[in-house]
Amino acid sequence: MGGFNLGKVFGIQVRLHYTWFIIFMLVTISLVDPNWSQWLSWVIGIITSLLFFASVLAHELAHSLVGRVNGVSIKSITLFIFGGVAQMTKEATKASAEFKMAAAGPACSLAIGGLFGLLWFLIPNMAEPIASMVQWLFIVNVALAAFNLIPGFPLDGGRVFRSLVWRFSGNYKRSTQIATWLGRGVAYAFILSGILIVFLHPFGLSWFDGVWIAFIGWFLQSAASASYRQAEQREALRRLTASQVMASNFMIVPPNITVNQLVWGYVLPTGHHLFLVTDEDRFKGILTLNNIKTIPQSDRDTTQVEKIMVPADQLKVASPDQNALSVMEQMDENDINQMPVVDEGRVIGLITRDNLIRFLRTRAELGM
Ligand SMILES: [Zn+2]
Repeated sequence: MGGFNLGKVFGIQVRLHYTWFIIFMLVTISLVDPNWSQWLSWVIGIITSLLFFASVLAHELAHSLVGRVNGVSIKSITLFIFGGVAQMTKEATKASAEFKMAAAGPACSLAIGGLFGLLWFLIPNMAEPIASMVQWLFIVNVALAAFNLIPGFPLDGGRVFRSLVWRFSGNYKRSTQIATWLGRGVAYAFILSGILIVFLHPFGLSWFDGVWIAFIGWFLQSAASASYRQAEQREALRRLTASQVMASNFMIVPPNITVNQLVWGYVLPTGHHLFLVTDEDRFKGILTLNNIKTIPQSDRDTTQVEKIMVPADQLKVASPDQNALSVMEQMDENDINQMPVVDEGRVIGLITRDNLIRFLRTRAELGM
């Protein structure tokens, strides 16, 4: 995901996607009024863009903070062209938690929109550029709430719908399926209406409105498919153990060889990038190319592998009968790409992100 970090709010990393600059430009330009002086229009445009940005951020923070209170930790928030996405490391485990978390965002947008709406109605004869700004922020926040409440999973409305089905059926998998069907249905309805608008121009709508609506439909459809695939993968992992998904073709090296011996004896001949350090079966640590790169050439004959590895006590490890989904969640939470599977101090396998994805893909190909 292209973008950059803006910093942390309530301990949650906030990222800005590059597409946000397009929104920033569009908002600023759309607010420029020929009746105002040049600099005034730009100042108002920029202030409005920043307030819009704050509104979208508040929407995502509402999801995140309500999620946190309900046991769903949020790692980061990314703001991009369609609004924002909060990256969860886990899905809610209870229907009530998912309901509160999903509803919090639109509720926050409605509250902010309501506030601007109130300002707009209560203050008569508001000075012109300010009045346009307040009106625009009122409309846009209400629109943000309305768009997100479209009952197409994975939008907020789709999640609210899923939590209700989940609450009444007690079946998480089934409710995800139903929410995805509804999401696809809504997406196709958007695409179809978009096409009809392009050709028939009902209610004075232009072909451009049609293209835009069809595009939103296409976006909803691909988001629904992607979320469903993800939900299916999580379901599959939930039913597997670490020992079932781990790879056994990992490389073992002893702790007392030098870095150069490691490079010439193991790294170059095998092409592996990751090594597990073990001493007479005891798991000692993990070593990647990055650890080797930190040692200057001149020291590689005298430095032992033991000195540059990440020692076992600083690593997250999985136990063989641990649920595979929890292994993936731990990797997400700690931002790591691999976890050794250790049984009574002995390494018996290695789980990597790539491996997990390949495992699931092969399993699906075999119709399992
Ligand atoms: Zn939302």
